[in-house]
Amino acid sequence: MILAILETAKQAISEASWETITAACDLAQKTNDSVTALLIGREVRALAPTLSGVSTVLVAEDPQLDSYIPEAFAKIVSEVIKQKSPQIVLAPGTETGNDLMARVAARLGLGLATNCTEFHLTRSGEGQGEVRVTRSNWGGSLLEEVEILSKPILLTLQPHAIPAHAAAGPEPAIEALSPTLTAKEFRVRVKELLRSEKKGISLTEAKIVIGGGRGLGSAEAFKMLEELASLLGNAAVGATRVATNNNWRPHSDQIGQTGAQIAPDLYIACGISGAIQHMVGCKNSKKILAINKDAEAPIFQRADYGVIGDLHQIVPALIAELKRVKGA
Ligand SMILES: Cc1cc2nc3c(=O)[nH]c(=O)nc-3n(C[C@H](O)[C@H](O)[C@H](O)COP(=O)(O)OP(=O)(O)OC[C@H]3O[C@@H](n4cnc5c(N)ncnc54)[C@H](O)[C@@H]3O)c2cc1C
Repeated sequence: MILAILETAKQAISEASWETITAACDLAQKTNDSVTALLIGREVRALAPTLSGVSTVLVAEDPQLDSYIPEAFAKIVSEVIKQKSPQIVLAPGTETGNDLMARVAARLGLGLATNCTEFHLTRSGEGQGEVRVTRSNWGGSLLEEVEILSKPILLTLQPHAIPAHAAAGPEPAIEALSPTLTAKEFRVRVKELLRSEKKGISLTEAKIVIGGGRGLGSAEAFKMLEELASLLGNAAVGATRVATNNNWRPHSDQIGQTGAQIAPDLYIACGISGAIQHMVGCKNSKKILAINKDAEAPIFQRADYGVIGDLHQIVPALIAELKRVKGA
């Protein structure tokens, strides 16, 4: 059995968790295994029937689990692993998922590979070294191949490493768990969550991302990308490392190997050459539109649509046309 640990946000299954389910289902298909999901939280049972593709959903509900409580969550996951003996345990490679799985690994004395991007299975069943994974390390500047020898195999999936697919299947069976939690498990609690100062839609959630590179030439020029984003709606502005190194944009806007991994419906790359370190961060975009004055720029080999020309003319023309269409 493959155990998928899920996270919830605002009473919904998080996107990173849907990706985790997709990866778990792919692994299960290859190993002829089934997927069991684990939901932990205050009122999470209602989410269980939506998890088609999963055979069973284990629900650990407790009124005190209204946010991520590190030791309580680690205890619950560890107990489930001991009781259910999964072959593989997969969690989202978010801050929370990596923290949780590190605690579980330490409790159970198991190895853990975080931020996996690919899984290579040679065979299922008993035996050692049958699962190899590629994982992103050192902030994405190193891709590492790892063989996990301890059992069960603990993994986390780098967000956006694979796109989530809706899995077809009957409604899963639901099994309620009764976690026994003591005051000891609540020594560390989240008291408050503060939003980052950045306003608007986050890069990883936006349906359209507009990226700016060296071709923008200044911080000032990014204002037209912001304007384009606000006209398109549900859009965010990102940047290449050249743009963040030049302080045209904050580092949090960087897309790529050492920045954010995005998977929007549309990525509009403006004045970006298409270096591999940038493209690994946007390769899961459904469509890429490149605007570049150099017809030989490598980005055109990856783009679905290309405009060869000066972005300082094309972006204002796009803005003017959108305003005309919207009557703004
Ligand atoms: C370990 C490591 C990690 C890295 N991580 C990242 C990362 O996470 N993200 C990242 O982005 N990079 C990363 N890089 C850097 C990466 O290798 C590239 O240097 C960088 O992505 C290039 O940025 P760019 O496309 O903005 O600039 P350039 O490569 O200089 O490209 C600029 C492009 O703009 C075009 N252009 C210029 N003027 C105009 C105009 N007026 N109109 C239209 N087009 C124009 C040019 O034709 C050119 O194609 C990393 C590098 C290393 C070594």
